[in-house]
Amino acid sequence: MNPRICAAAFLVLASCAPAPERANVDRELASQIAGIKAIDDHAHPVRPTLEGEAPDKEYDALPVESLEAQSDPVRDRAGSPELIEAHRAIFGGDKAKAARTYGRDYAVRVLDQLNIETMLANRVALGPGLPSPRFLWVPFADALMYPLPTDALIHNSDQKSFFALEDNLLKRYYAESEVSARPATLDEYLDKVVRATLERHKKSGAVAEKFEMAYLRTLDIGNPPKADAEKYYATGGGDYKALQDYIFRFIAVECGRLGMAVHFHAAAGGGGYFNVSGANPMLLETLLNDPSLRKTNFVLLHGGWPFGRQLTALLTKPNCYADFSEQTFMNYPRDVSETIRAWLEYVPEKVLYATDAYPFAPPDSGWEEAGYVADKTGRQALGIALTGMMRDQEITRDRAVELARMVLRDNARKLYGLK
Ligand SMILES: [Zn+2]
Repeated sequence: MNPRICAAAFLVLASCAPAPERANVDRELASQIAGIKAIDDHAHPVRPTLEGEAPDKEYDALPVESLEAQSDPVRDRAGSPELIEAHRAIFGGDKAKAARTYGRDYAVRVLDQLNIETMLANRVALGPGLPSPRFLWVPFADALMYPLPTDALIHNSDQKSFFALEDNLLKRYYAESEVSARPATLDEYLDKVVRATLERHKKSGAVAEKFEMAYLRTLDIGNPPKADAEKYYATGGGDYKALQDYIFRFIAVECGRLGMAVHFHAAAGGGGYFNVSGANPMLLETLLNDPSLRKTNFVLLHGGWPFGRQLTALLTKPNCYADFSEQTFMNYPRDVSETIRAWLEYVPEKVLYATDAYPFAPPDSGWEEAGYVADKTGRQALGIALTGMMRDQEITRDRAVELARMVLRDNARKLYGLK
């Protein structure tokens, strides 16, 4: 046969042959990723309560049950295959029995099931059953930004319940700071309530302060003159946003001084009134470019979804980090893997594993199930991203394993100064 015809026939045959099935995650890499004990950058574990104790309500400053109904993503709806699998997997489908068996150790046992060594617990307070160092505290700082009445800031029922909750939390911070009434001047308020609260949090083991700002207002934080902030504080007239922004910056500087990171909810959020465009992390760019805040590390929780691609560029700021929590519960692994891959190809030392384990609709969709789905999705998405990078010859197998360790634990260890 003419050799040229022969070659052409071979090409035709080869192109007709079925492509060999290739798993989207390299098997060896998958088992290595599964074996790494993780540090979870962001979650809301529920305190295990014993018989006769009131149920725990401190897992969030702004709990989702105060929201009006919305159209939930399919993956999170009651009866979704992911939730059913999670429910079966956690303690063999019998959480009640496990709770009786383990008592105060229950939450630690949940972490063991998920191969999570340390969970950053974003809660109003920690309390018994969430022991350090398995759980590290991340309290809330939004309430401090609203020392004056917030009625004019309320535009819907969700904000109405949220601002009432913030008001209660501020009262708690006043009481804990032993301040009985609003101090006369802004300087006094910043010193006796704000700084005192941050220092108390730090002393109690907090590693970061969390802002749920995107649920209350936009992330567009200005740099107002102090006089504008003082005017509103003294008179309640003028620009409340100037006062909020001024207080935020004070908190951010203090967090840097105290060695605590600043966590932002930076993504779409729960509720049918959530202002998605106001949660775009690009709104934080001027803050991240501010020389006076360079000693403060900012962590953009939930990786900015659906603005994850833009967020990649923000990760080049020396003090900016991101985690992929929430995405790993709401979205499928393929989608999450694309976000993670873009980040890993750019600044892999800034990428953090996280679950956002949250008691969405207990008992079937508790923090345990959310944690299970998010952990499984997160590890799978990481595997897809790294496998793709290996197959495209961007990285070696050794580097893929190293990157997996960085994302799952080493980056967080460095950021929070953990052992
Ligand atoms: Zn959260």
